[in-house]
Amino acid sequence: MSVSAVFDGPGAIRLAESDLAGPAAGEVVIEVAACGVCGTDRSIFRGEYAVDSPVVLGHEYAGTVIEVGEGVDTFAAGDRICVDPNITCGSCAYCRRGITHLCSALRPLGISRDGGFGRFSHVPARYAYRLPDHVPFEEGALVEPVACCLRGIQQAELSVGDSAVILGAGPIGSILLLLALGAGATRLAVIEPDPGRRARAADLGADVVCDPVDAVEAILDWSGGLGADVAIEASGRTVGAELALRLVRRGGRVVWFGVYPEREVLEISPYLVNENELTVRGSFNNPFTHQAALAVVGAGRLKLHELISDRIPLTDLAHALSPESRPSGKVIVDPSLPGTPVPNLGL
Ligand SMILES: [Zn+2]
Ligand SMILES: [Zn+2]
Repeated sequence: MSVSAVFDGPGAIRLAESDLAGPAAGEVVIEVAACGVCGTDRSIFRGEYAVDSPVVLGHEYAGTVIEVGEGVDTFAAGDRICVDPNITCGSCAYCRRGITHLCSALRPLGISRDGGFGRFSHVPARYAYRLPDHVPFEEGALVEPVACCLRGIQQAELSVGDSAVILGAGPIGSILLLLALGAGATRLAVIEPDPGRRARAADLGADVVCDPVDAVEAILDWSGGLGADVAIEASGRTVGAELALRLVRRGGRVVWFGVYPEREVLEISPYLVNENELTVRGSFNNPFTHQAALAVVGAGRLKLHELISDRIPLTDLAHALSPESRPSGKVIVDPSLPGTPVPNLGL
């Protein structure tokens, strides 16, 4: 028997039992050990990001292979793996150009097909990555967001000596901060409204941390009146996307990394972009960055355990996805935890 948290539409999650089907050809069945709650899951739960339902959400996960399907010779029962959820078609115009993350028939696990918020998950073997023994499952689950953040760093074209501003200091902003430092940013500022998160960003290596209200003045001051070389917007807030444009120098680069509400619009001056020759880019998913992300996580470069604030059972998922839940860091669902609410999680 398998138990999964099934998303039925905005605001609706239910626990459902089902018989566990065997793996299809080319698939492995894993017992999920850890699945991260992502901002995307929260957006879906709020109805800001449309998906077809019913579906089991959760696209940041790791676990143990319990059964392999026909034709799978790369994994065996007992192997520890983490998952790249972004399943591409391989034959659309984008896949054939090698920009597979923009696949027009993308079917991500945990978004378009059942993902990791359940005891078991069916994963195509070619999207499974072996997790080194010393990497705990909950850090393995975070290889996926790290892979997405690596794409953000690529899109920012960060190089040694750059100054960078990260907007947002949640788990994603924190990972971006550490990756930006690793990529050679010599000066780094973080914009974040929450004082606790600001303090953590300072601990992780930010030179300057400040509230969004003070950001323009503080960043100009910090950068000798110029602005930063790069700004990466990771709060997922539309106002942050606009603010980022005002924090970079002339010729600077802005990456809109967050998942923004699909229907919100922004008033910006094209003059600002043209006159200052700004580069503004999106960053989507994890094109060919999963292997590198696993290497970074395996090397212990990203204090991921410090970013995890809550470990919850499946029964607490609906609350963790709701707007009232304000965790200080990353929430990890462990489907093996008993299904009674754990009182000391502060949820
Ligand atoms: Zn995610
Ligand atoms: Zn495709």
